Amino acid sequence: MGFIFSRRGVLTVVSGTVLISVGCTRDDVTQPATPGRRLFPTTPVYDLDNSPDQVSAPVGATDPWTGGSSVGTGVTFGTYPYATVVVATASGMLTRTPNYSATGDVADSWGPTGNAYLGYRDKYNSTGGTNFPHGSGSTAVDTLLVQGVLEAAGRNGYGARQYDGYNGVWCGAQRPEHNRCDDWSGGSTITVQRLNAEMTAWPDSEVVVVGSVVHLLQGATPSSWGSFGVPFVGAGVDWIPSDTSNGGDPNDQPVTYWACQQYISPCGRVITGSGTFRPAAYINGKWKQTTVSVRAIPAVNSGDNATHPRPKCENYASLDSVAKSWCDGSPPDSTQRARIDAALANMRSIGGICVTLANIGDAVLNRGDLHLYSTSSWPGFGGGAPQGGGASGGYSWVTLANGWTNNYYDASHKDGSGRDLQQLLAHEFDHLNNGRHLTNDNSKTTHSDQCGGG
Ligand SMILES: [Zn+2]
Repeated sequence: MGFIFSRRGVLTVVSGTVLISVGCTRDDVTQPATPGRRLFPTTPVYDLDNSPDQVSAPVGATDPWTGGSSVGTGVTFGTYPYATVVVATASGMLTRTPNYSATGDVADSWGPTGNAYLGYRDKYNSTGGTNFPHGSGSTAVDTLLVQGVLEAAGRNGYGARQYDGYNGVWCGAQRPEHNRCDDWSGGSTITVQRLNAEMTAWPDSEVVVVGSVVHLLQGATPSSWGSFGVPFVGAGVDWIPSDTSNGGDPNDQPVTYWACQQYISPCGRVITGSGTFRPAAYINGKWKQTTVSVRAIPAVNSGDNATHPRPKCENYASLDSVAKSWCDGSPPDSTQRARIDAALANMRSIGGICVTLANIGDAVLNRGDLHLYSTSSWPGFGGGAPQGGGASGGYSWVTLANGWTNNYYDASHKDGSGRDLQQLLAHEFDHLNNGRHLTNDNSKTTHSDQCGGG
């Protein structure tokens, strides 16, 4: 039951539900969700997962006594699993025809503004809706946020009134008055339309150094309609590594839904090679998906640093010198490998960071990703490796002049500048471990002296 004022200002009680409050939203459905919340499958299985684009309320026939109408009891005509901003429109003029013209009363028309209603019930059993306060003539509109099921719509019944001069006779719609002075006719239509927004996503950096974290930011376009923020409910983020020919890390695996490794907003992921984020979300109740590509690069440095993934030797002519030297070279033979292993054993015996560098060296060697080239072919440098290339992935490779394994391979066989194989291995593996050159000496890295045997 609800209360309205009749046209003549008499407070009456009429039948029909009157819902006047617009439900407020909860923060957790309007803020980007953390990826740990999986509410529905990545790809919607049922359309029920989505809010409908448009529904029409099955408003029943206008009551000829009251002008009221409503959908049937227990009828659900729209389901909104996620908070959804909609524009609801009520239309249709009702005509009141007086049955006793002697009173001077004449036929008139009534629009839906303020007299139509739309209501929903959310999952907490709270109700919300509108009485269509905005509009004129035959059309009234309102924008509102719904979540749950639409289950109420119609027109309010119109009130009773009292005629002066006829012994105060009550006349109007109220059946208890037993004076049917009016006939109401016409009908009402109420439709509900979901506003559309698209998903947007972008990285905090499109080009990132291998080993660093990229944050994926997500939102909607537009981001709001008037005072309504566009509801955003995260539905997972996929990760698709690029082909190794496009900078992908060969050891990087595709990830479905759980690509975000940092479970705080925004999504964060450690990048080991180029690839594409594919986030999904319910944007104003509708499942949307987009893609965001990230290009991984090793840190730019001077001297012997390589700045690209494992060289594509089929493209030899377009490669730089460091890459060409790797293509020209080959993994160590048994003698060379024995000298390298001896140098690594020395590094390991030093302990600490030197063990880390030796382990990186083992990984690179065991994959055949350390190539020895002829020193005389490429006299400009003694080796090279991508900074931050790590122990695995597309940037984990080393090129080294074979002079270090063939001539200057231990403390008893140093070159003219006092360096040997262990020093060079420490230098290049330190690069893979993200070590940089000393600012005043490109021949050394942070740990090349410490792990290089002096
Ligand atoms: Zn270097």
